Amino acid sequence: MTKRGMLIVLSGPSGVGKGTVRKALFDEPDIDFEYSTSMTTRKPRDGEKDGVDYFFVSKEQFEDNIQNGEMLEYAKYVDNYYGTPLKYVNETLESGKDVFLEIEVNGAMQVRANCPDAVFVFLTPPDLMELKHRLIGRGTDDMDVINKRIQTAVSEIRMMRNYDYAVLNDEVNKAVDRIKLIIRSERLKVTRV
Ligand code: 5GP
Repeated sequence: MTKRGMLIVLSGPSGVGKGTVRKALFDEPDIDFEYSTSMTTRKPRDGEKDGVDYFFVSKEQFEDNIQNGEMLEYAKYVDNYYGTPLKYVNETLESGKDVFLEIEVNGAMQVRANCPDAVFVFLTPPDLMELKHRLIGRGTDDMDVINKRIQTAVSEIRMMRNYDYAVLNDEVNKAVDRIKLIIRSERLKVTRV
């Protein structure tokens, strides 16, 4: 029988750099996780591709998927739905491959409830002001959205205690090394070998 793959969940406040860290991690030659592309109702940003960055769908389609039990987790974040399609994650884990999710904290807690064997990593910003500057520097959102994101971030940071690991994102390479260390340790756990 094939051993079920490992599910790793990277979460943390929006703007903390989850996407950048995840992409840098996936560029590492010894990382062979399958990335689960999320579904969202938000509009694509410049340069984002359907099926690559997200599956971009309508609110109606997303709500249908929820009703039909097709989401592993989902959350409403700044007026849009974001979620993880269940089928891809299940089939990939069943085939013995490891899966990586990069999601916000409410969704991560749903995964925690449904998949107790998953590994939960919280990416933390050096501080909230830097988070604000990064969000403004990104230049993709207006001030209203930025302030909402910061309010959300304060409550997200309080949730860190629900995770297995906290990884400081002071520098992308350092954060990547810390996550690789976590992955190596997890693979050595008696319960996984
Ligand atoms: P953005 O609009 O900046 O791409 O994403 C906003 C937030 O939604 C980020 O914190 C991002 O990590 C999170 N997110 C992306 N995909 C998912 C998902 O599938 N589920 C959940 N719960 N959050 C997601």
